[in-house]
Amino acid sequence: MAIQNQDVRRIAVAYPDLQGNEMKYVTDCIATEWVSSQGPYVKRFEDAFAEWTGVEHAITCSNGTAALHLALVAQGIGPGDEVIVPSMTYVASANAVSYVGATVVLVDSDPTSLNVTPQAVAAAVTARTKAVIPVDLYGMPVDIPALRDALPQGAIVVEDAAEAIGARVRGTHVGGHSDIATFSFFGNKTL
Ligand SMILES: *Cc1c(COP(=O)(O)O)cnc(C)c1O
Repeated sequence: MAIQNQDVRRIAVAYPDLQGNEMKYVTDCIATEWVSSQGPYVKRFEDAFAEWTGVEHAITCSNGTAALHLALVAQGIGPGDEVIVPSMTYVASANAVSYVGATVVLVDSDPTSLNVTPQAVAAAVTARTKAVIPVDLYGMPVDIPALRDALPQGAIVVEDAAEAIGARVRGTHVGGHSDIATFSFFGNKTL
């Protein structure tokens, strides 16, 4: 039986909330003609975001997908390398691995935490494993210190925290336990 559109109850991931200074700041960018990456708001945002999440450096780029891609490039990951990715995530987590020519190794997610587990990651590790991309799915933080114990020496953690801005684990904002973490400010994310 076809579901009529009016019968579908929509549950949004998150709604944009643009009732602060957003209009004022965007207008300021246009009025001053600073609409490039060197405008003063970009640096202010990077500094404020790093301070708020408790990390040393935050770098902006065009979106969360590009951030994942750049993170892997920056770590020299490429053909012949394997990167472990949860099978339940937004496709960008796996796409980034294929952009750099590395091999995606999918692992199942835990039905309660919705996240990868140290056990599943340990079972997927091979001599070619260079990184894992744990995803804080729907705001559920991955326990990164526990995950690290499952990784071989030298393998890195690139945390995909696109859906979890504001979430903390062991008192630390998501991303703070990883080698690199990526975020997204797409309209349906938590900031
Ligand atoms: C949204 C999302 C991304 C990609 O972010 P964009 O800014 O839309 O490119 C990556 N990973 C996850 C888990 C996401 O939810």
